[in-house]
Amino acid sequence: MITAHSIADAAYIVSALLFILGLAGLAKHETSRQGIVFGISGMVIALAATINLAVRDVPGVAVILLIIAVLIGAVIGLLRARAVEMTGMPELIALLHSFVGLAAVLVGWSGYYGVESKGSAQTEIASNLLRIHHAEVFIGVFIGAVTFTGSIVAYLKLSARINSSPLMLPGKNLINLGALAAFAALTIAFVASPNFGLLVAVTAVALALGWHLVASIGGGDMPVVVSMLNSYSGWAAAASGFLLDNNLLIVTGALVGSSGAYLSYIMCQAMNRSFISVIAGGFGIVAASDDHTDYGEHREINADDTADLLRNATSVIITPGYGMAVAQAQYPVADLTRKLRDRGIEVRFGIHPVAGRLPGHMNVLLAEAKVPYDIVLEMDEINDDFASTSVVLVIGANDTVNPAALEDPASPIAGMPVLHVWEAQNVIVFKRSMAAGYAGVQNPLFFRANTQMLFGDAKDRVEDILRAL
Ligand code: NDP
Repeated sequence: MITAHSIADAAYIVSALLFILGLAGLAKHETSRQGIVFGISGMVIALAATINLAVRDVPGVAVILLIIAVLIGAVIGLLRARAVEMTGMPELIALLHSFVGLAAVLVGWSGYYGVESKGSAQTEIASNLLRIHHAEVFIGVFIGAVTFTGSIVAYLKLSARINSSPLMLPGKNLINLGALAAFAALTIAFVASPNFGLLVAVTAVALALGWHLVASIGGGDMPVVVSMLNSYSGWAAAASGFLLDNNLLIVTGALVGSSGAYLSYIMCQAMNRSFISVIAGGFGIVAASDDHTDYGEHREINADDTADLLRNATSVIITPGYGMAVAQAQYPVADLTRKLRDRGIEVRFGIHPVAGRLPGHMNVLLAEAKVPYDIVLEMDEINDDFASTSVVLVIGANDTVNPAALEDPASPIAGMPVLHVWEAQNVIVFKRSMAAGYAGVQNPLFFRANTQMLFGDAKDRVEDILRAL
């Protein structure tokens, strides 16, 4: 017989397939729009099926509240998504992850109030499954609370509301291990005999652990933290799915959890960081000592002289970074690219995997400005070509072109692969001052003999060069 539940189950399978197709579509520029459409369709079907279930299973007033909540959420989400600048995306994503974590905590707590607090005699759950329910409540609350505070700290760091340097408490690894041991002990106690005090204790331990894990990670490693929290938020959703007996939530949570974990792994490889070290809250990372090195004087150049250099160049590589996003310089950069190519000069882009503030940030900006995909190359594809390049334009990049990563073992970014821009004949760095990049370290590139600084807002300076050309 066809019931609302069997319709919901069928709809959930369709939604899950659409989410998988969505993820597959997002893997390539060409299919990413299609991927988004699959994802939105899956979510619309899932929401419709859930509301249809609710209409049958819960009182009318609750359904009305549910619809009002969905509408308010949708309006806030739409307004926020329309208003957000590309540069504000990472902190928005971090904030959204914190909501998933908070939701998982609330679902866990309501699970406790629906079952454990009433005592085993009052519940409909079979006695042999009851202990599993206790564990689900506890694990869901733990993962949710770690995700909640971890995401809030990531939000504060990414939006520069707190300092991005790593918090170095004495014995920080012992603190993390202690928190995990406390979680294991509390879980055993709760499964044996659930009570309110243990639930409060695990919530407090997990909130503190989430805060400490992310606070201990330094600025340069934040890309991994964002994808790691993405993964945690997926596992938190999956934990809620088990508690709510909702298969779609379990599947979707697992998809987000595993794809986030894989993305973290790829980012760690790109940055030559140990995956375990980063997910364990900067395990093994030591604090950087202050840099008092005298790098000498830097040289400056103006837009007219840069235009002259470009006119006489045979090949140009542009390496954009976070500053291009801040200045919204991608449109004049695309115009400059067209102009130089029309003059027969070879122009290519070198993209560092963590340039900007979110994975693929530069690719999105360049695609938006209609720069052809075939001249936008990954770091590994272009790193050997700098030595034979006439001019490199470093547009608002800093950490991703810092030679200290290769040359100074004491640097906080030591070991991170970087773009070898300094090997080119001329390097022009577009930025507003001599300030450090996101990782907070000085960049010896600015003081090299073949480097000249073009100070000012990147968009204004590129427009000046366009006029001069
Ligand atoms: P950085 O953040 O290292 O440096 C950006 C530079 O842009 C700054 O030195 C700044 O200098 C300059 N800048 C800012 N605004 C402007 C402007 N309007 N015009 C011209 N220049 C400007 O950039 P990178 O892209 O090289 O490196 C990214 C960093 O962010 C890495 O450390 C990475 O680990 C981290 N990160 C990356 C994430 C990701 O997923 N991609 C996520 C989180 C962090 P000045 O102020 O002098 O103008």
